Amino acid sequence: MPDRRHLLLLGGGHAHVEVLRQFGQRPLPGWRVSLLTREEMSPYSGMLPGVIAGLYQPAQALIDMPALTARCGVELLLDRCTGIDAQARLVRRAGGAAVAWDLLSIDTGATPDTSRTPGAAEHALPLKPIDALLPRMESITAAARPGQHIVVVGGGAAGFEVACALAVRLPASVTLVAGASGLLAGFPARLRRRAARALAGHGVALSEGRNVARIAPGEAHLEGGPMLPASAIIWATGAAAAPWLAETGLARDPRGFLRVDSCLRAEGHSTIFAAGDVASLPEPLPKAGVFAVRQGPVLAANLRAVAMGETPQPYVPQRDYLRLLSLADGRALGTRNGLVFGGRWVWWLKDRIDRRFMARYQH
Ligand SMILES: Cc1cc2nc3c(=O)[nH]c(=O)nc-3n(C[C@H](O)[C@H](O)[C@H](O)COP(=O)(O)OP(=O)(O)OC[C@H]3O[C@@H](n4cnc5c(N)ncnc54)[C@H](O)[C@@H]3O)c2cc1C
Repeated sequence: MPDRRHLLLLGGGHAHVEVLRQFGQRPLPGWRVSLLTREEMSPYSGMLPGVIAGLYQPAQALIDMPALTARCGVELLLDRCTGIDAQARLVRRAGGAAVAWDLLSIDTGATPDTSRTPGAAEHALPLKPIDALLPRMESITAAARPGQHIVVVGGGAAGFEVACALAVRLPASVTLVAGASGLLAGFPARLRRRAARALAGHGVALSEGRNVARIAPGEAHLEGGPMLPASAIIWATGAAAAPWLAETGLARDPRGFLRVDSCLRAEGHSTIFAAGDVASLPEPLPKAGVFAVRQGPVLAANLRAVAMGETPQPYVPQRDYLRLLSLADGRALGTRNGLVFGGRWVWWLKDRIDRRFMARYQH
């Protein structure tokens, strides 16, 4: 039907899988919907440390995009977006002709920032994209021997969980470089202390106070001189925006993420939406999957509203949210509203939440 208008979903992130699910249940009359995304299997990062620890099979943490889009009646274009021409309403891609759209939604996430540390892009393994990470992680796991050192750079939730996972899984020794901001900055002090004890219990050396100044093959050099030898360096630092966003002409925040209004519309554009890590709201949010997940239903409703000529509704972020950190040994730490808790039941809760999330899109 050539006269149908076209909604293009760009990126198979956490918000878009919910949009797909909802449009599968209730199609958009008069519109065809396509998804352009890079990876056939879209990773759920909440379970990734569990995959590294050997607690989950990789397939348990991956959403099969060909299967999901087929179930939802959405066309899948497996390709990498390289740019957007907002005026001409085109998305450019690496492997084919540009794709025209009438309504565009962007959920392409972020990647760990390797740009500010010389050598990091060449010699360290970033946690994203995860499709590149998992095969490399398998070879690191297979090659790990006692006496080897693995360095994880980044003291946030992802770095902490990955350091725990590697320490539990591998015979090699693990160092977590949490840098100047320290371990789990922004988390309550009680949780940070418990996390430091958990690392010590796993035999992980914690380095705080000095950032990594540069990376050389097999070496992580800290500011002020000390060098950590490393058979592998995992890069888990704060999120950076994709460089191609700079060429789109869309409004961006100082870190390069797309500015959106409270209805998740790109600033100054009524037919472009963005959600998840790539989006920067008027009140900026942490780059955490939980927000991308919560934005999914609002994004679906707003895309439907705009497609039908109705008014979109604002997204109201929750004030506080449950944060759960796996210790990779059947226990987890958690915090909400200033309360700190931990133990086996917290892992049970995290596992249940994560499996329930995945079941919505895997079956
Ligand atoms: C190891 C790890 C553990 C984490 N654990 C948690 C946690 O427990 N809780 C939490 O809240 N957050 C966690 N996070 C953060 C979380 O991963 C992100 O905030 C979340 O994934 C953001 O979701 P998103 O939808 O914005 O994008 P993403 O989930 O990153 O999805 C982006 C999608 O876009 C696609 N894409 C990207 N670029 C292009 C392109 N150029 N062309 C086409 N497709 C493209 C990708 O292939 C991917 O499918 C963790 C992160 C990591 C790395």
